[in-house]
Amino acid sequence: MSVVNDEQIVRGGCLCGAVAFRGQGPLFATSHCFCTQCQRHHGAAAGSYGNVPVDSFVIERGADKVTEYARSPKGRCGFCSICGSMLFWRGAETPERVALALGSLEPAWTGTVDTEWFVEHKPNWTPRA
Ligand SMILES: [Zn+2]
Ligand SMILES: [Zn+2]
Repeated sequence: MSVVNDEQIVRGGCLCGAVAFRGQGPLFATSHCFCTQCQRHHGAAAGSYGNVPVDSFVIERGADKVTEYARSPKGRCGFCSICGSMLFWRGAETPERVALALGSLEPAWTGTVDTEWFVEHKPNWTPRA
């Protein structure tokens, strides 16, 4: 187990409130992922994520409401089976971490992201800098 620093715990949950989770911050490897699977799963331009160590990740409430869907051999997504909120992603090649959906965090994530993945799939309706 990693050392827990209470001040840097990151918390999040789903829209309906059934599911709540936490992990040890600070978040690392934050990103917008524009891959077509993230677009389809989030119904949005990108999936936005920040990572916590897997051994710090705890589903505090509603674990029985979380469905994990293996959307490809590369990983699986966890979402609320009641309200459908996308909550986290577990990468098969990065089992030491869990990627939390930035939009699920409470309080809201105020940082920036480190990386944009699959920018070749950025839709035309994405705001341009
Ligand atoms: Zn929910
Ligand atoms: Zn993606």
